Order: sequence, then structure tokens, then C-alpha cells
Amino acid sequence: MALADLPGARPWTNWVGNQSFTPARMARPRSEEEVGALVHEAAQRGMGVRVVGAGHSFTPVVQTDGLLLDLSGLSGVVSTDPARRQAVARAGTPIHGFYEPLWERGLALRNQGDIDDQHIAGAVATATHGSGIANACLSGVVRGVRLVGADGQARHIGEDEPRLLRAAQVSVGTLGVMTELELEVTDAYRLTEQVDVWPWAEVMERWEELVHDHRHFGFFWMPSEASAALYNIEGHGAMTDRCYVKIYDEAAPDQPDSATPGRRTDRCYRIYPMVYDPNFHELEYFVALERGPEALEAMRELMLGSLPDSVYPLEVRTVGPDDAYLSPNYETATTVISVSGTPGTDYWGYLRAVDALLAQFDARVHWGKLHFLDSERLHALYPEAAEFIAVRRELDPAGVFLNDHLRPLLA
Ligand SMILES: Cc1cc2nc3c(=O)[nH]c(=O)nc-3n(C[C@H](O)[C@H](O)[C@H](O)COP(=O)(O)OP(=O)(O)OC[C@H]3O[C@@H](n4cnc5c(N)ncnc54)[C@H](O)[C@@H]3O)c2cc1C
Repeated sequence: MALADLPGARPWTNWVGNQSFTPARMARPRSEEEVGALVHEAAQRGMGVRVVGAGHSFTPVVQTDGLLLDLSGLSGVVSTDPARRQAVARAGTPIHGFYEPLWERGLALRNQGDIDDQHIAGAVATATHGSGIANACLSGVVRGVRLVGADGQARHIGEDEPRLLRAAQVSVGTLGVMTELELEVTDAYRLTEQVDVWPWAEVMERWEELVHDHRHFGFFWMPSEASAALYNIEGHGAMTDRCYVKIYDEAAPDQPDSATPGRRTDRCYRIYPMVYDPNFHELEYFVALERGPEALEAMRELMLGSLPDSVYPLEVRTVGPDDAYLSPNYETATTVISVSGTPGTDYWGYLRAVDALLAQFDARVHWGKLHFLDSERLHALYPEAAEFIAVRRELDPAGVFLNDHLRPLLA
């Protein structure tokens, strides 16, 4: 496959519709060799290269006026090792593509987020997370990657090269093209779900129990009566200033499966996913776990005073620590705080106010969701940012894999 064989420029838009651009060329390679040949030729011609996963990021992390590679043709679990609790998958494997192949071998992903459409490489590139202080984000369970560099050559980065691996675990696509990932997985498990609607004060009073005594939990707080329906949370009566609380524990072996809404028990992967419509533009920040309650009280005040701009629910989760250089959970468990702006409105003033408030709590950002991170804050908040940038410069000195959004931060 050569660049000249590829179709000409066509516009690309992300899932939620807030990012659009037209790459010079777009390709859907079906092998690592094809990826290598395309990257090599593009780099020789001075073109930038970016990869798209499932296009579920809200930030311009995919944008390029050069070559855009769609890796959906490189999909599927390649191998599983129940004894070592490891699985190897191609980069374009969607999260839901892990379910059956792992379960058949008595395995499961340790954790996952609210949806399962993301490609594993896209999810890992931005440190996609679920909830639970004992559960690292997906980047935190990466034990190796195959990476095609700007020279078109593929290399394996494993635990014997910890510096490179810690950079590759959260790279936002700036080190090269991942073609395969090796993940630490866990024994297959079932989850019990407990969903209830509580007043805000009850969640805050029970915070320590919710965080420490369950496998994981999360909640949505509704600033107004219009909030819940925006995230398809319906049928729970009056919701203003109330929390839709979701508590999860591993099911005991003798506990039967149940489909009762709000009290389900089932295979873990059947419990995790929610249904979202592309009707929100999301920002998500991470504060150190212990500062969570204070930050949340301040967020509630800000949101009550910002209606109707703040109409979308506040989503709250926790995440365990990892040691990836650019991870928002770098060496600390976090309380994760998400809000959204309404598409078609000027929500930037509201999101800037959220940013300013959470900056007081030294919040780090989700790379795939709207944020206002600049270079100064990056270096202040991510102790290994300089090390990441050093690795990036070693692997891609010409900046083939940078784009206009990431160059000011990571060049
Ligand atoms: C409805 C919805 C729900 C969400 N829920 C959660 C959630 O629960 N938790 C959470 O943390 N996030 C969540 N997100 C955010 C989402 O998980 C991240 O934005 C994730 O990066 C999207 O994955 P993707 O495959 O769509 O990647 P894209 O958005 O397509 O790409 C993300 C980044 O990965 C890079 N990339 C992709 N493939 C490769 C590759 N093979 N090699 C190198 N770089 C690559 C891209 O260049 C880009 O920089 C949600 C987003 C939406 C829209």
C-alpha cells in the first residue's frame, strides 16, 4: 500500500461531532507491514501522521492535515495466557472485542469505563478509566506494546524497558503507531450492581465507606430537574440536588444472576456499559483522592450558580494509581470529576470556571476530554512530563506524530 493508491481528502468528524478536519490522505491498513510502509513514506514526504481509534475523544487528539490511519482493520485478541493473566490484542480491538475471548479462558479485563466502543489503543493512549481505588486505568495494566516508529520500523516495548513502557502507556499517539498491546487481565468475575437515589449529604457522609468498602462506585449528581434525562437516567422521580449512586461488588459464586433493574448480577462485562447519546461535550479532571469531598462540595456550589450552563450531571468516580508518565493517576489514587457543556451553546465560560476551580485542587486532566492544560501546568502537575518529552524526542525527533493540539504541550 502506497500513499498514491489512497483516496484523496475527505472530511473526518469525531463521534460527538465537535472535532472535524480533512486529512490529506486516509488509510485503513490491514497489517503491521502496511502501517510501517505508510508511516515511512509519509515521514519521508514531511507529512504528519495520526491514528484514529473509535473517534470517541472530545479533544483534537486525532487531528492532522497529513496521513490519518484507521486501525479498525487490525483487530482481535491474538492470545490469552490464564496462568500469567495476560492477553495480547491488536490495537484496533474494541473494548467489547475482549469479552468473549477472555471469558472463554476464565479471564476478564480488570476494569473498564462507561462505554465499550473505544479501541484498546485509543483507550490506552488517553488513560481511559473506570472506577475503584484498587483499579488502575487501562494504561496501568499495559505490560507491553508493539510500536511502529517514524522510520516505519516496528519494535516491541516491554517491562525490560521501563522508561519507554511508562511513556508508551499514555502517549496520546505521539510516540508512534501501536499495533499490538499486551495487557494484564484478571480472573473472570461477576458483578452485583446496587443503584439508588440519595441526597447529596448522604453520599458525602458515606464517602469513606463508598470509596473503601466496595469494589467500586460512582455517582451522578443532578443540578436541576432537566439533568438526569440528558444521560438517559430516567424513572426515579424528582432528581434535583440528588445523586444516582451505583455501587458494585464482586458476586459470590452461589449468588444467582439477576436482571432486576438496579439490582443486577451478571458477568462483569454485561454490567459495565451505559448508553450515551452524542449530546454532550465533556470535561473530566482528576484530583488527589483525599481532596475529592472538598472539591466536590465546591463543584456543587459552582454548578448550582451556573445554571442553565451547568445542566448536565456531575459524574464522580475514583481511580487507582499507576506509574505512566502522563497518567492523571500518576502515583496517586484520584477522585474523578466530570461535567459537560451543551452542544450548540457557548459553554466555554462555564468550563473555564470549572477549570479555575479545580486548578485550586491541582487537578490533572483527561487527555480525551475537554481541558485547558498548558505547558506550565503540565510540568507543575505531572512530575515526569519532562521525561515523557525526552522519550518522545528520542523516538520521533522530527515530530511526525505531533499535531497542532499536542505540539505546544509535548514537543
Ligand atoms: C460516550 C463516551 C463515554 C466515555 N466514557 C469514558 C469513561 O468511562 N472513562 C474514560 O476514561 N473515558 C471515557 N470516554 C473517553 C474515551 O474513552 C477516550 O477519549 C478514548 O481515547 C476514546 O478511544 P477511541 O478508540 O475512540 O480513541 P480516539 O478518540 O480515536 O483516539 C484517542 C487517541 O488515541 C490515539 N490512538 C488511537 N489508536 C492508536 C494507535 N493504534 N496507536 C497510537 N495512538 C493511537 C489517537 O491518535 C488519539 O490521540 C468516553 C467517551 C465517550 C464519547
